[in-house]
Amino acid sequence: MKNYTTDEWIALDHKHVWHPFTPMGYWREQKPLVIERGEGDFLIDTDGKRYIDGVSSLWCNVHGHQVKEIDDAVKTQLGKIAHTTLLGMASPPSIEVAKRLSEMCPGRLNKVFFSDAGATAVEVAFKMAVGYWFHQGMPEKCKFIGLAGAYHGDTTGTMSVGYSDLFHKPFISMVFPVSSFPAPDTCRPPHGFEKSMPKCYAEGHWPSEDKEHNEALSAYCLGKLEEMLKSHAGETAAIVVEPVMQGAAGMVCQPKGFLKGVEQLAKKYDVLLIADEVAVGFGRTGHLFAVDGEHVEPDILCLAKGISGGYLPLAATVVSDEIDRVFAGDDVMERRTLYHGHTYTGNPLACAAALATFDLFEKNDVINHARKSAEMIHERLRELLDHPNILDVRQRGTMVGIELCRSRDDAEPFDFSKRTAAEVCMSMREEGLIIRPLGDIIVLMPMPGMKHENLSRMLDVVVKAIKQWSFEK
Ligand code: PMP
Repeated sequence: MKNYTTDEWIALDHKHVWHPFTPMGYWREQKPLVIERGEGDFLIDTDGKRYIDGVSSLWCNVHGHQVKEIDDAVKTQLGKIAHTTLLGMASPPSIEVAKRLSEMCPGRLNKVFFSDAGATAVEVAFKMAVGYWFHQGMPEKCKFIGLAGAYHGDTTGTMSVGYSDLFHKPFISMVFPVSSFPAPDTCRPPHGFEKSMPKCYAEGHWPSEDKEHNEALSAYCLGKLEEMLKSHAGETAAIVVEPVMQGAAGMVCQPKGFLKGVEQLAKKYDVLLIADEVAVGFGRTGHLFAVDGEHVEPDILCLAKGISGGYLPLAATVVSDEIDRVFAGDDVMERRTLYHGHTYTGNPLACAAALATFDLFEKNDVINHARKSAEMIHERLRELLDHPNILDVRQRGTMVGIELCRSRDDAEPFDFSKRTAAEVCMSMREEGLIIRPLGDIIVLMPMPGMKHENLSRMLDVVVKAIKQWSFEK
């Protein structure tokens, strides 16, 4: 690779690269960071400046960058083969990853279908769910119910279940209709929910931590789901949820017991439950999988991002033996194929990175480490309880959304075009921290394995930047 200067890299990027989720007109007027290296919890740019990776490199890194054990595993695998197909063949790394996932995932989840991105893991789940009913003589059970505001990826099926006008209006002709039930969103309560947002700051907690309000909100949303199932279960293949916390929807937390309620309704009305743990899986909630913390066993679990430690593209759709049996068939006449596959399905390098990642969870006791990190975050952000421009802090494990507002009195948001949270995040960059917002929400996404000294530094920068910012009145 050529050794360009930073300015040359930027000029070439502007000339040739189209970035995801980016208004390219604005991008090409700015000087982006060009990241050249990673080291532990840090990203290092082409000028040698170090930044704490507060976004886990888009929510996927788990143990840090250039982790010796993962690097060595990938190099060893590279000494054997970089890629081979799973079509008509098998390979040791993918077999071992599937075996380990079956041991790690809840009870009946024993069969693993590999792909290479979060969106494909969810697409596969959709096709499995529809196929499951079709092959049992119920082709009418082919629709999905999702959570309002859901985001499951950017392929056509996942866009359909996570449709939003802001993102998808030009593609409306491509998506299929999906029903959604309201999410228990404290700051944007569902239409028809009568209670107003609790103003409990003086009592020492955030609105989204208000137990009484949460119970009412949860019951309301589950009630709406049940109404939909009463009339539509006969044509519904599955309910699709991002368990415990909806990330891209605005870091929306689900109250304890909400997911259990969804599971019970799925069982009662005989529809499958698909849990999309692409973002929340692999330690981020303080459990290996978010469903573990809720004692929920979905029929299909979608995994990606952290599965390879955030190193290489790998995804897994893990299904119950019962779903597998409908395809594998007890009888020769009932053997079916899932006509789906990708070239890099089960790539051996990515699988080698995954195996090393799984080992590091045990070796470094990452789950307990992440739980302590969650306590540190929780404690430290209390300092912002009396800040007039913070509407809510929503946290599950190490995943946090700090929602800014112009006024707490009426939960008034900032003018969208002012990009307030984005500007506050940019000020953190000067202090050596990379954070990305979602609208008015500052999202903290440290690696589950981030060293506590670096997490503490990250929290110092975040709290200081918010306290020092002169917010528009
Ligand atoms: N599901 C969820 C919950 C996600 O957060 C994301 C990505 N952020 C996806 C699916 C899609 O993953 P990918 O970008 O790897 O396709």
